[in-house]
Amino acid sequence: MTPPKCTICKTQNTAFPVQVLLPSYNLKLCQKHFLEWMEKRVYETIEKYRMFTKNDKILVAVSGGKDSLGLWFLLSQLGYEANGLYIDLGIPNYSSESKTYACQLAARIGRTLHIVDITTELAPIPEMKQWSKKPACSLCGTIKRYYMNRIARENGYTVLATGHNLDDEAAVLWNNVMHWNMDYLSRQYPVLPAEGPFLKKVKPLCRISEKESALYTIFHKIPYIKPECPYSTHASSLENKRILQKLEEEKPGTKITFYTGFLKNLAPLLHKNEKRDISLAFCRICGEPTTTEICSICQLKQKMGKI
Ligand code: SF4
Ligand code: ZN
Ligand code: ZN
Repeated sequence: MTPPKCTICKTQNTAFPVQVLLPSYNLKLCQKHFLEWMEKRVYETIEKYRMFTKNDKILVAVSGGKDSLGLWFLLSQLGYEANGLYIDLGIPNYSSESKTYACQLAARIGRTLHIVDITTELAPIPEMKQWSKKPACSLCGTIKRYYMNRIARENGYTVLATGHNLDDEAAVLWNNVMHWNMDYLSRQYPVLPAEGPFLKKVKPLCRISEKESALYTIFHKIPYIKPECPYSTHASSLENKRILQKLEEEKPGTKITFYTGFLKNLAPLLHKNEKRDISLAFCRICGEPTTTEICSICQLKQKMGKI
């Protein structure tokens, strides 16, 4: 069967054969034009939501997966000053391989990679259940937020970027709408402004699907960890992703319309009504922001006899 022509360059299976069909946008792109399309779309997202400029010092949270590695590479292609942060969670058959990929990319693009080793700071995630009643993912989230903010601030970064893609954001939105979780809905946005000691947080891939993100990383020959974290199989977000994927297959463009429609129509109303009144203190031990006298990370360290 003759492959379809690229919508942009109209070539047919010559130097850049058509590889990518994007039915949501009615596009068929060769590899070269897909990569250009993706970089332009991410750049437009950064500009549209005023995420950062070339004067910012950006820290990308890198997990070793396709999204965060692709994002880091893409930002360096666009000429942004972006370094990486890898948090070693000590998860068997997952963490050491993902760390290798993060280190490889840092060497390839000539950028700094900060590494935090949770196994020495606290303990490997699988061993944490003896110190905390929280589920692994909830604890892991607390740990990652703490170290991301701390490392970024201590090293003079102005923005923290994460690799959340359209599928992630649409699944979270779906869940928040299903449960009418107004508090979460009012904070769901691709940019969270800096608030006191908390850095500005951005999601430049929020309008890029999981498939598009994977193709970008593969076409640039960036090795990444394929299996999901073993704990993610229990995440309810996977079920929401499956539902949305089914709707997308029946009607291409569903995910992007659902998510960007929310950003355009509902998010501004929710922001207008939002009143946040968090009384923040600073941890008596580490000095990081907390709502209690001693932050949850220092409480864990105390239980473990680390401080
Ligand atoms: Fe952490 Fe859970 Fe994500 Fe694994 S799936 S990296 S444990 S939050
Ligand atoms: Zn082309
Ligand atoms: Zn503390």
